[in-house]
Amino acid sequence: MTSGAARGPQLLRLVHAGPGLTRAEAAHALGAGTGTTTEVVTRLVAEQLLQEGAPTSGGRRGRPTRPLTAHPQGPLVLAAVVSHESWRLQAVQLGGTAVAAAGGHHDGTDPARVLAAVRAAALRTARRFPGRVRGCGLAVPGLVTDGHRLHAPLLGWSGVDLRRAWPRELLDGGGPGTGPGAGRGIDDELLVAGNDARLAAVGESARGAAVGARAALHLHLDAGLGGALTAGGVLVDGARGSAGEFGHLPFGDPGVACGCGASGCWGTALDGAALARALGEPVPRDPVASSHRVLDRAAAGEAGAGAAVRGVAAALGRGAAGLVNALDADLVTLGGLGVRVADVAGDVLQESYRAGLMAFRRADPPPVRAAALGEDGPLTGAAELVWSRLWARC
Ligand SMILES: [Zn+2]
Repeated sequence: MTSGAARGPQLLRLVHAGPGLTRAEAAHALGAGTGTTTEVVTRLVAEQLLQEGAPTSGGRRGRPTRPLTAHPQGPLVLAAVVSHESWRLQAVQLGGTAVAAAGGHHDGTDPARVLAAVRAAALRTARRFPGRVRGCGLAVPGLVTDGHRLHAPLLGWSGVDLRRAWPRELLDGGGPGTGPGAGRGIDDELLVAGNDARLAAVGESARGAAVGARAALHLHLDAGLGGALTAGGVLVDGARGSAGEFGHLPFGDPGVACGCGASGCWGTALDGAALARALGEPVPRDPVASSHRVLDRAAAGEAGAGAAVRGVAAALGRGAAGLVNALDADLVTLGGLGVRVADVAGDVLQESYRAGLMAFRRADPPPVRAAALGEDGPLTGAAELVWSRLWARC
């Protein structure tokens, strides 16, 4: 029998995963009687962690029951995403909804200025919710080493210390507050930074298309191809936290050099330059914008562009099959330009994918589908990674 004390954190996780959970459903999920559940709920409401809504008739045997949601004074996580041209920040409450948001554009020239803008927004937000911020997560377009150092070759940023995205005032004193992480300040473990495609994978497994998958493979295509494998909702990290550089698997043409220093990388068969080569056009300066233009032309029925996109779709499907064969994933989600490739040439992608699967997987092939969270994936994942670390401390 689980003790009443252990059931508090258990119930917080349940409401976080499914806000609006009724008291009856909570009792069932906790395997607890009405009395124990009432006691746990009463304590968490008094600690300003949960609140109960008005009674609804959703209880067992039609009895009225009250939905559980985040307390309006409860703990918050700050989550931010920096992309190639903009940044966004949200304060996220238990259950995953945002209670505040900010954002702006940048020209990519100065990482210090971008981080200063995020830091100022974080400070304004933290002051608006005194004592309530428990952790901070940041998603960025590049490789993150040592947990906080960003290398973003497309922006020309190297060795950027991402801890500077968060105000000192916030790190020194989260305030007294209650609940997970309260009174401990925000230490390095609760300052999470990660590659945007990897964090999108976390977002999909927590609140998107991959909820409940045992081993979900997320493939995010933009300037290159990245992603991650999540196993039971947990990100597979690798030794340096950079597992998921799938675009550098040798599934491409060995005659094509990749910016990473290797040749024949899968990403070189999928990017804007690959589309330009297929069309006999010059290599684009902005590969993402160029890919979008070719996809627009293909969607409008232009034959050459259509053939180029089908080539990318075939390479994407074949590589996805190889990864499913190797990793035993039960779901593949596509993000970024991958969604558009699937829209324009989904038949080619699916056919190539099935053809690449080992025979024993073809009877019941793991589905390949669009990610559900779209552009919100990295931000959602950044918040969820911080929440998961908070739950580990409960
Ligand atoms: Zn490469």
